[in-house]
Parts: sequence; C-alpha cells; structure tokens
Amino acid sequence: MKLVSDYFGCMVFNDEVMKEKLSPEDYATLKRTMEHGRSLNLSVANAVANAMKDWAVALGATHYTHWFQPMTGITAEKHDSFISPKDGGKVIMEFSGKELVRGETDASSFPSGGLRATFEARGYTAWDATSYAFIKDGVLCIPTAFCSYGGEALDKKTPLLRSMEAINRQALRVLKLFGNEDVTSVKTTVGPEQEYFLVDKNLFEQRKDLIYTGRTLFGAKPPKGQEVEGHYYGVIKPRVQAFMKELDEELWKLGVPAKTEHNEAAPAQHELAPVFETTNIAADHNQLTMEIMQKLAKKHDFVCLLHEKPFEGVNGSGKHNNWSISTNTGVNLLEPGATPYENAQFLLFLCAVIKAVDDYQGLLRISVASAGNDHRLGANEAPPAVVSMFLGDELTEILEAIERDEGYDTKEKELMRIGVHTLPKFPKDTTDRNRTSPFAFTGNKFEFRMLGASASVSGANTVINTAVAEVLKQFADELEQASDFQTALHDLIKRVFTAHKRIIFNGNGYDDKWIAEAEKRGLLNLKTTPDALATYLDEKNIALFTAHKVYTEKEMRSRHEIFLEDYCKIIEIEARTMADMAMKDILPAVSEYSQTLCNTVHAKKKLNKKFDCRYETDTLERISSLQTIVYKCAQSLAYKLDHAVLMHDAESRSQYYKNETLPVMQSLRMASDELETLVPSKYWCFPTYGELLFGVSE
Ligand code: ADP
Ligand code: MG
Repeated sequence: MKLVSDYFGCMVFNDEVMKEKLSPEDYATLKRTMEHGRSLNLSVANAVANAMKDWAVALGATHYTHWFQPMTGITAEKHDSFISPKDGGKVIMEFSGKELVRGETDASSFPSGGLRATFEARGYTAWDATSYAFIKDGVLCIPTAFCSYGGEALDKKTPLLRSMEAINRQALRVLKLFGNEDVTSVKTTVGPEQEYFLVDKNLFEQRKDLIYTGRTLFGAKPPKGQEVEGHYYGVIKPRVQAFMKELDEELWKLGVPAKTEHNEAAPAQHELAPVFETTNIAADHNQLTMEIMQKLAKKHDFVCLLHEKPFEGVNGSGKHNNWSISTNTGVNLLEPGATPYENAQFLLFLCAVIKAVDDYQGLLRISVASAGNDHRLGANEAPPAVVSMFLGDELTEILEAIERDEGYDTKEKELMRIGVHTLPKFPKDTTDRNRTSPFAFTGNKFEFRMLGASASVSGANTVINTAVAEVLKQFADELEQASDFQTALHDLIKRVFTAHKRIIFNGNGYDDKWIAEAEKRGLLNLKTTPDALATYLDEKNIALFTAHKVYTEKEMRSRHEIFLEDYCKIIEIEARTMADMAMKDILPAVSEYSQTLCNTVHAKKKLNKKFDCRYETDTLERISSLQTIVYKCAQSLAYKLDHAVLMHDAESRSQYYKNETLPVMQSLRMASDELETLVPSKYWCFPTYGELLFGVSE
C-alpha cells in the first residue's frame, strides 16, 4: 500500500526539493526572497528555473504555465512547452529565469473594469515565490500575480499579497511594544471549509438551468427534504466515498492538506476542510480544491455544484473562512495565553479584530456579495446579511468586567487589570459553539461564515487583513506615544470595547428578532449585492485601501465596475435560461398533458354523458391558468432583458435587474413549481428535486 506520507506533495516543487536541487547559495537566496518578498536576481532565477524544469520533466511535464487568478473567479493558464528547436531537427527542453519570474499575456479578454485601455492589451504575470510551483496534468504551474503594464492589479492575488504586507507592517509595530524583539514577520493564516453538492451527471445534463447557471431555477419541494437531518455526518455512500478518496489523494499529491470530509446538512451536500496555511497559499489551494473537485466529480459520473444556493428551500453552500495571525516564531496571536503578559497581547489583538469588523462591516459584507450568495445570506440557514461577531460568554464577560472596572471572578472581587492578572481558562468545547454567527471567535481563530461556496477567499481576506492592519496602526500610533504603556493599554482596550461592543452578539443569528435589534444598534443590513456595492466607493473605504497601498482608487473603481457587471451578467443568463425553459420545455409539456386530459373528457362523455370528469376539468382549469402566468412571465422577461441591454450604466442596470427582473423570475418559478405538482412525471420536462437530491444510489 502506498503511504500518504510518501506521496504527499510529490507534485510540488517544495522546500525539500529546492534544497536538494539547488546549490546552498541559491537555495538561501530563494528562501530569503520567499520570507521577505524581495525580488530574485536573474542568475538565481535562472538556476531555480532550470532546477524546476529538470524536476518537472522527470515527472513527465512537457509544458509550463503561469497560473493566475483573474477577476473571472476561476484560475487561468496558458500552456507553453519547454521545447526549444536545435539544429538537425532536434529539440531541447528549456526554461529560463526570465520565463519563471515574469510572463506576458494578452489581458484583453479578462475583465479589467476599464483599467486596460484598448490600446494596451498586454498584461504581465509575476511569480509569487511564496507559493510553491506544482505539476497538474503534465503542466508545471507557477502561481503568479497578474497586473497591467501600468502596474494595476488585474487579479485577486495581488491585493491579497499587498494586504498581507499591510498587516505585517502594523502588527510588527504593536508586537515591538510588547518587547517581542525576535519576531521579524507576521502572517495571517486561513483554513477554508468548502461545502459542495454532488448530483448525478446524467440528471444534471437534463437540466438547462444547472448547465447554464449552476443552480435550479425551477423545482417544487420534494416530499422529503432535509427535515429528517439524517444526512449530517451520516454514513457516506460508497460512490461518494470513492470520489472523496480520490479527491483526497489528488489534493495530497499537490500538497493541499485536505483533512476532513463529511456529509453536510442537506441531502447530497458534503464538506471538505483542509488544515490551515498562510493566507495566499490557502487561497491558491482552495482554487485548486474547487477545480479538482469539479474535474474528479465528472470522472465518478457526478457533477459537483459549487453554487451558493443550487436548490431553493434546501441549505445553501458556504465556505467558512477560518482566520488567524501568527508570528514567524510560531505564536498564534489569537491564542489566549497562560501569563498576564501574553493575555494582554491577546486581548489587544482580539480588540483590533472587534474594532476592524465594526468599522468595516460594509466592506466585509461587500467582500462576500454575489448574485449567487444573495439567495443564501439571510435565508433561514445561512448567516444573515448583517455582520456581527460571536465571542462566547466567558470572553464577553471578561471584556465587560474590564469595561466596568469590576472583578471578573466576583468571588475574589479582584479588578481585572490587563497585564497584571491572568485570564481564566476558556472552555474550548466545540459542542456549545455558536454556528449562526457571521464572524465567530472559536478559541484561537475567527471563523467568517458569510462567504459563498464558489467565491475565491482572496476578496474577503484582503478586507479582513487590511481592516485589522488599519486598527493595529491606530493602536500603535497611540501606544507608541504612551508614557505608561500598561495604563495606556488598559484604557485603550476598555475604550475600544465600549465603542464597538454593539457588533458583538452571542445569540441566535437566524432569529428575526436579532435583525430588528441589529437595526437598533445601528448595524448595517445590506440585503443584496447592488445594495452592498452602492457603498463600496464610500470615502472611508477608499481611504482605508489607499492608505495601506492595497488598492489605488483607480483599482477600486475598476473592481466596482467588474462586481456590478458580474451581477448583471448572472441575472441576465438566469433570466434567459428561465424564459427558454418556459417556452421550450414547460409550456409544451403542460399543453401535451392538457391534450391528454381533453381527450379523456371527450372519450368519457362520448361513452356516457353522465360520467364525472371533475378531476380532468378542475386540473385543466388550474393548469391552464398557471400556464398563462408562465407564458406572460416569459414574455415579460424577454421584454425586460431587451430593455436592460439598452442601459449602459452598470449601476442602474444592476438595480433594474434586482427590482424588475428578479420579481418576474420569482413569479414564473412559483407558477411553474405548482405546475410540476399537477403534471404527471412522464409529461414533466426535467428531473425533479427528489431525483436530484436523492438520486445517488448506493
Ligand atoms: P471545527 O471548527 O470543525 O471544530 P477545527 O477547529 O479543527 O474544526 O478547524 C476548522 C478549520 O479551521 C480547519 O480548516 C482548520 O485548519 C482551521 N484552523 C484551525 N486553526 C487555525 C488558525 N490558527 N488559522 C486559520 N485557520 C485555522
Ligand atoms: Mg463548518
């Protein structure tokens, strides 16, 4: 049997391989580059490129690609072969340092939101040396950032890397105040738990909505839904098990630390959780995970759905973004410590996150906004669209005691002084953990639960990192000036908690009462993507990103445009698909059944005038009127689509889609779903929810 430890990372040009294949000097230079983000000189780049090529060719690779994450949300690659022609019709395999560190690419077909003027179609890709190269399908993939020739970010990785630099700068200032002289870098860590659905490929192919939009636009509730909760952590079916096994193996070869696989709450829903890694690597690995899930699913005659809400009335799929900050000396800064000194530092970082989430709730909401996630956020099983934080009772009580200058442990009546007293031990029991909070403290990390399943984690982490960097900057500015550090620290924590405790909510986030309460507290409730995006270019947000050099204002404007366009495109495709299915599938199916009913009535009456035809005539009446609704809605959708295309401004178009198109789609769906319950299966035009959700046999 092959041992996992033997093949884990076998397709990765990782540290071990580098050490083996590079001279000690080149290896040391490369490591320095990786740790401090310096640029690589050409002779070292050449040596690295050559070693990488030899290693890759020996493993069967023939091509290389700069692997990047444009704004399309998926990864992009353009394969170049290593071959270089030589005299006598021979070739040799070549790969230079220049080709490794920088690639040129035609950027004109990638979304740029107006950043790339038409005369400048070129963009370039630059190696992110902190993320290892790997071999996928015989191609050496080099993780890269993607920019325009003007240096503007055209991708999701560049701002993420910039945000990691920002939080590194500010966290180091704060850590210095606590006397951590040995810490030279701080990195954020992320472990994204990925939810997904598996449906039978054969059934998938019979549904245009799944094919074109990744979600069902029609579908009546099946007789059995997820009420029974038999699926969560249930026994995994052999066919699914086989898929998961191969998925783990493929991911392990690529060095992706897939850790747990289990069934989720909804039927046919599953989850994969990896071990956490440095944020940019976690982001790369999550992209790979989604890609490989989809590819392998097909091999097992499944289709993997990563849509946020593939089925109405059934749990949607999210991606829980577990986030923390660690030093290069291995200290998790969100881990409560054992000494008063460690506790003080922990509480300061904790308060930095609390203030950051409160100050930038709008940006956090925007970072997870998409047409798909709009169906999930606020639905009864996903976090609401309101951003709030869960700290747990113990931690909240401690902060309250500090706020009120009271003893935490009332028996001892001792005042909680930061830096003097030890914090009590917090239970890290997972059972009483709040699962409904959008931003939950889970012992030594925060779990941001609003991300949709298909999203790249880069956007959300860029916001978290930058917002926390900003607050750490404010803290450092203040504390660096303090004459008495201990007192200043205590006062700062007290003041921050008082000012931002409105964001803390330890109760049930799915409860409607909470939404009313949140409004009273003045928290934002940006229900839809267009609502959220309307606040993206607020002065405060531009100030944040430009101050920390994460985005220029121009880059933000371009992203705003891309987000709006994305939203519009999705609704447009969905509306077109609905109209098409209504006209070509649903209406003809209903007519066919109506004809059968009419024929039956005729036949019965012919035989005996007194025969009761109530079932036939009642059904005919109901399905005819529903059919008219479907027909009218389909016509109205077609009209609205034509109208929307004429609107050139993306902002008004997105509002139009939200206010005018979505309600018609909803009415169309309601009428069609009722028809589905009245028309016999043999006339119905596509597989039902029952078949899709329970269709995977043993
Ligand atoms: P659960 O939440 O199911 O109890 P865990 O606490 O083990 O499971 O972790 C859930 C996810 O959080 C995993 O992907 C894990 O790797 C990640 N995680 C754990 N510690 C950290 C950390 N310090 N930073 C980022 N992610 C983390
Ligand atoms: Mg989870």
